[in-house]
Amino acid sequence: MVGLRAGFDLGGTKLTGVLLDPDGEVIARHTVPSPSHANWVGSTVLDVLRRMLGECGGAESDVAFLGIGVPALVSHDERLHGATHVSGMSGSSLLEELRSAGPWSAHIDNDVNCSAIAAIHAGESSFLLVSLGTGIGGAIVRDGRVERGARGFAGEIGHMIVVAGGEECGCGKRGCLEAYASGQALTRRVEREFAKGRLPELVDPQRPGQAPAAKTVVESWRKLAVAGEIVQDWAFFLALGIANLIEVGDHAKVLIGGGVSASFDHFTELLLEQYQQVMTPARLRRDIPIELVPYGPMAGAIGAAFLDAHRKA
Ligand SMILES: [Zn+2]
Repeated sequence: MVGLRAGFDLGGTKLTGVLLDPDGEVIARHTVPSPSHANWVGSTVLDVLRRMLGECGGAESDVAFLGIGVPALVSHDERLHGATHVSGMSGSSLLEELRSAGPWSAHIDNDVNCSAIAAIHAGESSFLLVSLGTGIGGAIVRDGRVERGARGFAGEIGHMIVVAGGEECGCGKRGCLEAYASGQALTRRVEREFAKGRLPELVDPQRPGQAPAAKTVVESWRKLAVAGEIVQDWAFFLALGIANLIEVGDHAKVLIGGGVSASFDHFTELLLEQYQQVMTPARLRRDIPIELVPYGPMAGAIGAAFLDAHRKA
C-alpha cells in the first residue's frame, strides 16, 4: 500500500484526520479532542496517523504526503501567525516537527483554505467560501487556485468591520463580522435574551436554568417569534458580509462550511431573504448559488491531504 495521503484539520475543539488511498478515496478517519497547546499538536497528529494506519494495515513508510490545516494565519513561507484558538501556535515549529517525523513530504495551511481545496477537489473552481464556526473564516478561489494575497493572509473575512464602533471582537477590534454573524455571536445573543427572561420555551429539560443551545434557536425560528427575531438579525449580518464580498469580488458561487453549517437547511431561507435585501442591484445577483461546502465536517482534513498541489506552485 504505497502513495497514501494523510490530511489533518486542527479545530478549536477537535482534531480530525483522514487517510486517503492513491485514488483519493478515504480509507480511514479519526477524530480526537484538540490539544490545548501547540506543543502537543505534532505528537497528537502522529498518534492519529498511526491509529488510522493500524486500522487499514498500512505502515508509516506508505505515507507519501501529510498535510495539516490550522486555525491560524499562515504566510507564504508556511510560518504560523496570529492563531487565537490554540495557544502557542503563533511561531510554532509544527511543520518542521511533522516533516522530520517520517518519510513523507508535508505542508501546512490555514484551515479554511484547506476546506476550499477540498471543494476544488470535488470539482468547484471559482467561489467564496464562508466558514461559520466559533469564529468566521473565509477563502477565495478563482479558476481552481486559492487566492492568497500579498502576505498569504487573504480571506480573513471575519474581521471585516460591519458596524463602526460596534461589538468587541476577539481580535481586539470592534464591529467585526465575526462579532455579529459567527456561532459564538449567535450563542452570546441567545444568552443575552435568555437572561432577560425570553426563550423559556426552548430550554432543554436536561439543563434547567441554562440558555437553550444556539442550534435549537436556529431550528425554531419559524415556530417562535423571539427565535425568529434572533436568527433574522444574525442572518442579516451574515448576508451583509457576503453581499459586501460579492460587491468586491463578483464571486460565482458562495459555499458555506464550518460547524454552524450543520444547521444550514434551517437558516438558508432566511439568509437568502436577507441577502436579497442588502445586495444591490439585487436583480443582477439574486441567483448567486449559496450552497454547503462538499464533504461537510471532513472538508478541512480532505483538503489538507491535497495541499501539495496548492503550495509552492
Ligand atoms: Zn475581529
